[in-house]
Amino acid sequence: MVDVTDSAADALGVTSEAARHALDAVLADPAGTLLALDFDGTLSPIIDRPEDAVIHPCAAAALDRLGQLIGTVAIITGRPAKAAVDLGRLDQLDGLGDMVVLGQYGAERWDADTGRFYIPPVPTNIGQVESEVHKIIDDLGLRGVSIENKHRAIGVHTRTADDPAGSFDKLVEPVTRIAEENGLHVEPGRSVLEIRPSGRDKGAALAELIIERGARAVIFGGDDLGDVPAFDEVVRQRDAGLPGLLIASASDEQSALVGRADVVRHGPAEVAEWLNALADELERRAA
Ligand SMILES: [Mg+2]
Repeated sequence: MVDVTDSAADALGVTSEAARHALDAVLADPAGTLLALDFDGTLSPIIDRPEDAVIHPCAAAALDRLGQLIGTVAIITGRPAKAAVDLGRLDQLDGLGDMVVLGQYGAERWDADTGRFYIPPVPTNIGQVESEVHKIIDDLGLRGVSIENKHRAIGVHTRTADDPAGSFDKLVEPVTRIAEENGLHVEPGRSVLEIRPSGRDKGAALAELIIERGARAVIFGGDDLGDVPAFDEVVRQRDAGLPGLLIASASDEQSALVGRADVVRHGPAEVAEWLNALADELERRAA
């Protein structure tokens, strides 16, 4: 007789002992599962202009399905919560139930069941830091660098610069200095330096959500350095006995998560395939 979990593990590319244990827990108790995912680079392909990003259509379909199968589906992103909801058209999906979007690394929140946003006041010095960053870019003579004001944070994007990698390297030191002088923190990402308030990261956001939802198993997926604290949190939870599964959305730009993940998929299209395969397994078991 074929072991159903073996076939599920094969279909989902799960091999390690800890990951198989987590997959067993998810399949046995979907209502107790928290699935938390990063947005950009994980569900939505990275493109030159971040304001033009859209969720991969297969990822949207997978979230729609999983929202009906799993206890909690959450997105934890560096973007403002409203941007993630709009770019993911999340408020237009039928199956989301009580999905949660944590924006700006957990500082902002949107709940699908109420449709309400929680957005705290903006740090007062963000505007001043933004103008200082403009000055740094001008002084260095860098062309094509774009600045994204995210209200609570500022993204300094070098993807569209004449020299993306060189511009990034030149900006790290002065941008970090200006941020620190203003009591802010710099989060490096894929061709972006993000300046934001200290004290919030995706690990803390995930830990709070695990407690709030009483999660009995957790899956987290991400693609970039900002996701490292959430990976750390899943490892910590695993050590404390909570089954956890880690997915990396791999890219040529960033490989920090690849060696730590249980499942590696190349980019949002393959992550979406994986999420749909998980939905297939859960539907098969529910039938
Ligand atoms: Mg990302």
